[in-house]
Amino acid sequence: MSRQRILSVRNLQVSFRTTAGTVHAVRGVSFDLYRGETVAIVGESGSGKSVTARALMGLEAKNAHIDAGTADFTFTGDDGKETTEDILQMDKKDIRREINGRKVAMVFQDPMTSLNPLMPVGKQIMEGMIWHYHTPKEEAKARALELMNLVGITDAEKRFNNYPHQLSGGMRQRIVIAVALACSPDLLICDEPTTALDVTIQAKILELIRRIQKERNLSVIYITHDLGVVAKVADYVNVMYAGKIIESGTVNDIFYDAKHPYTWGLLSAMPDLETDDDRLYAIPGTPPNLLYPVKGDAFASRNKYALNIDSRLEPPMFRVSDTHYAATWLLHPKAPKIGMPEELAKRVSRLLKDAKRMEEGQMSAEGIATGAMASEISRSEQLRKSKNHVQSAAAEVTSGADHAAETETADAAGDDAPGHPVKEVAV
Ligand code: ADP
Ligand code: MG
Repeated sequence: MSRQRILSVRNLQVSFRTTAGTVHAVRGVSFDLYRGETVAIVGESGSGKSVTARALMGLEAKNAHIDAGTADFTFTGDDGKETTEDILQMDKKDIRREINGRKVAMVFQDPMTSLNPLMPVGKQIMEGMIWHYHTPKEEAKARALELMNLVGITDAEKRFNNYPHQLSGGMRQRIVIAVALACSPDLLICDEPTTALDVTIQAKILELIRRIQKERNLSVIYITHDLGVVAKVADYVNVMYAGKIIESGTVNDIFYDAKHPYTWGLLSAMPDLETDDDRLYAIPGTPPNLLYPVKGDAFASRNKYALNIDSRLEPPMFRVSDTHYAATWLLHPKAPKIGMPEELAKRVSRLLKDAKRMEEGQMSAEGIATGAMASEISRSEQLRKSKNHVQSAAAEVTSGADHAAETETADAAGDDAPGHPVKEVAV
């Protein structure tokens, strides 16, 4: 069966009017999502992940302006027919009535913001079914109890009448997931849903989301700052920096063959439970202030592998493979051959060892989050390209390809535009 695309985002640009000026928070984001798959958007705080997600739900802030872009969403209408609509062009009222809560559901970081503190949780699960589909009360209640079981709430009958404050953080997030699933959405958007939870609860919630996603053939956009979480839940990964996607690929592409130094930084920032050293690596420096135009590669000033050209020209999306793209001049054929740092590659192999040990049942509860992640990776390790291949992968400039064309900027269209020889690639 061929994959069915249910969401196609092209060149999304969102800015904010502030007293200090216009902040260009999202600067041309493009990605696709297919039925039954999970695409992760990962990046440091402030990279534009939530702004992207909110634009896709018509929930952008009052001072936000969508400057450009399309977001074609394909869903099954109430008449059973498939419809495609550009969410960015839809009337907000229609989005609320037809899309949100029904076709697209969202799970946010803090369950308290999505739950009503004054209403028993069971009723909150019933609400959407009654409001959107006029489901009879008895039926809605039976389904709410089913959903509570599905999301792993034991004693559902009793919990049904609890108020949010009577439940733990993890339980509350399970309720939010049940609310989200109540109307059988086509698309679930999770925005850092486990960030506020401790690591063991986080692992359980991630497993839950992955299981439900597979069982229901749900499509998921999963937003997080943590690549460790990505490996656990995602099929495809979009790495976001300063309002742009700077690398995209399958989970394997990103974990074994990352090409962008920013992605290397995020990989290095993953918590490592194996070593005694619990200091987390942080990428030095700060992202650019998007009140001002960005010249060249937005990551250049923080990038120890920066080339001269980085300060002048924005890199296009270079094609690494059919599934893998990255916007770094390091991929230009004339650039010096610099690959993922050795230290980092060692860490990934250490995570793999974790996975093996976990399979032998020696893993401590504490190590589960990382171990399960590694096991996720090892399962599909056969697909991984050999190291030699990685080193020699002469990525081509694909200025003609869809993907590249969409991410190119006016800046890159000058003399040194992709396709022209790069004159200065010396470090
Ligand atoms: P994250 O990747 O952490 O989710 P966001 O998408 O929330 O980041 O924010 C991206 C950028 O947009 C940040 O620089 C943030 O300060 C800015 N931003 C978000 N909302 C607003 C707003 N309502 N007004 C002005 N700036 C905003
Ligand atoms: Mg956010």
